[in-house]
Amino acid sequence: MNWISNYVRPKINSLFTRREVPENLWVKCDECGTMLFHRELDASLQVCTNCGHHMAISPRERFRALFDGGMFAEVAVPRPIADPLAFRDQKKYVDRLREARKATGEEEAMLVAEGEISRLKVVCAGQDFAFMAGSMGIYVGNAIIAAAERAVKLKSPLVLFAAAGGARMQEGILSLMQMPRSTVAVQLLKEAGLPYVVVLTHPTTGGVTASYAMLGDVQIAEPGALICFAGPRVIEQTIRETLPEGFQRAEYLLDHGMLDRVVKRKHLRRELASILRLLLGLPPPVLGELPAPSEVEARGAP
Ligand SMILES: [Zn+2]
Repeated sequence: MNWISNYVRPKINSLFTRREVPENLWVKCDECGTMLFHRELDASLQVCTNCGHHMAISPRERFRALFDGGMFAEVAVPRPIADPLAFRDQKKYVDRLREARKATGEEEAMLVAEGEISRLKVVCAGQDFAFMAGSMGIYVGNAIIAAAERAVKLKSPLVLFAAAGGARMQEGILSLMQMPRSTVAVQLLKEAGLPYVVVLTHPTTGGVTASYAMLGDVQIAEPGALICFAGPRVIEQTIRETLPEGFQRAEYLLDHGMLDRVVKRKHLRRELASILRLLLGLPPPVLGELPAPSEVEARGAP
């Protein structure tokens, strides 16, 4: 022990380590520009506390907030052949997949889970926009089929959270084949008489909008979500006209009869609990805390 090891070395080390401040401590709201502290944003489920703008949320984070006690079990999804067309653009498709897996920590663009929402067993499928823009490839098709089959087996409703840039170009025609495949999966639920509810989140576009995302018994959307087949820019360039304010946004689509409800993220859990129980002919969900057993007995309840 001497002056060098006790004083100089820690001082030098601190000079290098002090700079490693996590970069994502503050997040800027795309809508109003407010700087939001990440913990505050986690608590508000990635909704801007200043303007109410709904930012992207990962399926895992969403499920933790949605299921009772934040508890759910993942439903296994069969893994398809990786890179069936040996596709390459500026990068190899396998490299893009590897990068997306590393960045999100998820296997693919859809997470399927089962758990309880207000004591009702529900299967949920959540699309992850952070994973290659949530694009629909064979895996996503497999995930929807696995979710539908699991729901039928459990006699549970299926809730699907859609978020996608469309079909996965790197899988060519095989990605488009997921449109009829997922439609058949939805049909499984309808034949079993089970509710299928879709929550459209920002953005839901392309082949996803043209298949399973628009087949729900009840169509819910998050505020401000862009929901379309072709985007506003493409339409504007094609028809050479300025589109009305809020075109293809959730509120506009609600006004024009394309949606049933626009629900804020913080109310989704309660809203889904009510809708699912209503569709299944069950009594409404119990909101808030139940009284302790001793209190019930004291009041003479059975
Ligand atoms: Zn904001």
